[in-house]
Amino acid sequence: MKYRVIPAALLIASGAMAQDVRSLVLSDVRVVDIARGAVSAPVSVVISDGAIAAIGTLDDIAPGSAIHDAKGQFLIPGLWDSHVHLFTSADEPETAFRMAIVNGVTGLRDMGALWPIADQQALRDATESGATVGPRLILSGAWVDASPGSWPGMFLADTPTAAQQVVARIADEGWDAVKAYSMLDGATYAALAEAAHRAGLKLVGHVPERVTLSDALDAGQDGIEHFGRVTKACSPRERAMVDRVATALDADNPRDAMIAEMTGHNRIVLDTWDAALCGAVLARMARAGMHVSPTLVVAGFYTGRKAAPDSPRMRMLPQAVRDAWAGPDFRLDAMTDDLRAIADAAIALDHRTLALAHAAGVPILASTDASFANPQLFHGFSLLDELDLYVAAGLTPREALYTATVAPPRFFRLRDQDGSIAPGRRADLVLLDANPLEGLATLRDPAAVILRGVMLDRGALAEMRAADPG
Ligand SMILES: [Zn+2]
Repeated sequence: MKYRVIPAALLIASGAMAQDVRSLVLSDVRVVDIARGAVSAPVSVVISDGAIAAIGTLDDIAPGSAIHDAKGQFLIPGLWDSHVHLFTSADEPETAFRMAIVNGVTGLRDMGALWPIADQQALRDATESGATVGPRLILSGAWVDASPGSWPGMFLADTPTAAQQVVARIADEGWDAVKAYSMLDGATYAALAEAAHRAGLKLVGHVPERVTLSDALDAGQDGIEHFGRVTKACSPRERAMVDRVATALDADNPRDAMIAEMTGHNRIVLDTWDAALCGAVLARMARAGMHVSPTLVVAGFYTGRKAAPDSPRMRMLPQAVRDAWAGPDFRLDAMTDDLRAIADAAIALDHRTLALAHAAGVPILASTDASFANPQLFHGFSLLDELDLYVAAGLTPREALYTATVAPPRFFRLRDQDGSIAPGRRADLVLLDANPLEGLATLRDPAAVILRGVMLDRGALAEMRAADPG
């Protein structure tokens, strides 16, 4: 596979990077404390060497600093999308970075990649060094599945011993976590969790189809992707459904048998979802600190929601991706009116369960599954859609922002980032025209985005939106 390198000059076509000054100062800016829900009086925020150096008054500022008047504006930490696939084609990161940045997304966790790890790490290191202007990357795409693997290039494990060997390789290669995938059997999954934890790595990913959420809690899975399994665990029939999937997977044509079996699960969950059981499950998740990456936006695809071909988000995609997304999709073709009605009800139940999970203290990581490989899921844009869905489900704007700013860096155990804006913290920031605690619409048009101390003002962001995507 051959990929394009992404020099800073390519991303930043104009003089936006010509910041040959010791520090950048945002003057008269109100700093938003998302953990506490407070907004400061106007202050000056001094940024140098990619970090916040000081917060104070203009009197403290060294001569030679570049001063950006941010009067009337609000400063928040940059947003994280905790579930993307960046590396599904040679040119995806270049476009994904632009789409993320113009939406204020300054951190991405990759959850499954088709590039070799060394190439992913090279790109991550280039953004860390400043050679490339791009979001901070967490590489958690070491997905482990049963043979033959749901996607090409996955790590495969069919026995507990194989799981241990795979984790040794993942640790050796320097991935940030181990990701469980859907087809693992129960014993192999349990061994994978144990080996990951022994190696000091988190176990994240899918709850395998043969495993209940309760089993995943027993295994100490640290993070789970997608929300459906949480809602399913609120049904007293979860164990029976999982057992029936296991039986289907022993059939001659396991994949088809499993899909046939799972087609009926939404209906069962809708009929048997139980508030008391749900409360107990969610309390257990909260106590365990099991994080959830809901990716609610994924469901929009099944309801047929499509971006207009000439919409700003579509125009930022390469033509080849737009063409691929315009083609027929077997998942949509299989939809009958009946299935669509059930899907709509299942989506509503997911949203209701999400609100309960949040209220119960289950930590949430805002996430989208954005990828060239996933039609109608857009880097950057879909993250803002996802936050809007959290608010629609009942979270406050502050609580929704928390899932994209405070929760992710804490979960990733980043030393220089914790969702606060304070001296010593990495300067990944978004400057907004309005107070986001009063509504998230202002996120759609940031006044500036700052990555590792490099500021892209509205003009630079407009150039990024208009750049030829190829
Ligand atoms: Zn994914």
